[in-house]
Amino acid sequence: QARDEGWMAEHMLILKLTNPEGKVKYVTGAFPSACGKTNLAMLIPTIPGWKVETIGDDISWMKFGKDGRLYAINPENGFFGVAPGTSMKSNKNAMLSCAKETIFTNCALRPNGDIWWEGMDGPAPAHAIDWQGNDWTPDCGRKCAHPNARFTAPASQCPTIDPEWQNPEGVSLSAILFGGRRATTMPLVFQSRDWTHGVYVGATMGSEMTAAAFGNIGQVRRDPMAMLPFIGYHVGDYWQHWLDMGKTVANPPLIFNVNWFRKDKDGNFIWPGYGDNMRVLDWILRRAKGKAEGQKTVLGVSPTYAELDKTGLDYSEEQFNANMALNPSEWQAELESQTELFDKVGKKLPVELEEQRQLLIKSFS
Ligand code: GDP
Ligand code: MN
Repeated sequence: QARDEGWMAEHMLILKLTNPEGKVKYVTGAFPSACGKTNLAMLIPTIPGWKVETIGDDISWMKFGKDGRLYAINPENGFFGVAPGTSMKSNKNAMLSCAKETIFTNCALRPNGDIWWEGMDGPAPAHAIDWQGNDWTPDCGRKCAHPNARFTAPASQCPTIDPEWQNPEGVSLSAILFGGRRATTMPLVFQSRDWTHGVYVGATMGSEMTAAAFGNIGQVRRDPMAMLPFIGYHVGDYWQHWLDMGKTVANPPLIFNVNWFRKDKDGNFIWPGYGDNMRVLDWILRRAKGKAEGQKTVLGVSPTYAELDKTGLDYSEEQFNANMALNPSEWQAELESQTELFDKVGKKLPVELEEQRQLLIKSFS
């Protein structure tokens, strides 16, 4: 794929959303490892009337259509998912995708030749061979599967796979989401002011490290567009490419930032997440249609409490406010960390992104 026709984004899922009136929209989302791509790609909506179908859960090729819109293709044939914690309860569509014709790595082996991992449905086997090849029993004090044990399953087996998932034309995007795992600082959702600001939001994205990543668990790692392991050339040039691409499209998708992982002071997730993420997607698509006014914040536009569809959900205005709060001291640390990243990028840092940084510092002072 020629670079001037588009670009490739790793760690980017593609979703098809059909609203209660039957209108179809497509959204992509770039999230670092272990930040919920596979779950979001196979989401089972909790608000009635919506249908979510999967195009891909990990890579997106983006290119321009003749209509001036941005299109995305999933170049992959299957899913490479984290096994522990995956169950019929947490992600039914992933379980059904890996029910057969699947390669499992670093899972435990049961005596009957089947596999097992922590968090799978049903009781643990009385005896198994663990991921290192040792005898394992539930009371031995060790985990039977590696925390990053994986399943490699054909996408065609996913019950929610979009019939058009292999269409070489790709799907026309309404929105691009960025999001990391942040216990503090980052609100549940905001819309960037424009493409350039959206590129800034993606460029400065950060996520707290989990078992799958390097470094100290819980520490924030900057992960531009979730592409840190994949960019392959100078990050400043990569950012410039995003900026340039947006100028070429007549109707670039809107860019949003989401964070499903904010915690309250007791350490519990504030937002219920998973199927309830549909409520955030619903607001995002209403924004894209100009049907939700939102409220201006220093980060862009966020939903009001009233705008968020809470049908069947117990989510108070206090919880919402805690989920959306922009805490000045947290933002001081965040801006310092973003500045450190830009210092590291050096001479190739696009001027437009530096301007965005200055603007943000000004609005917080
Ligand atoms: P991926 O590596 O980006 O594809 O992430 P996965 O979808 O495999 O999820 C990684 C981890 O995040 C798993 O433990 C999920 O259960 C968890 N997770 C996914 N979505 C959510 C969510 O909306 N809220 C919360 N709290 N956890 C989630
Ligand atoms: Mn995944």
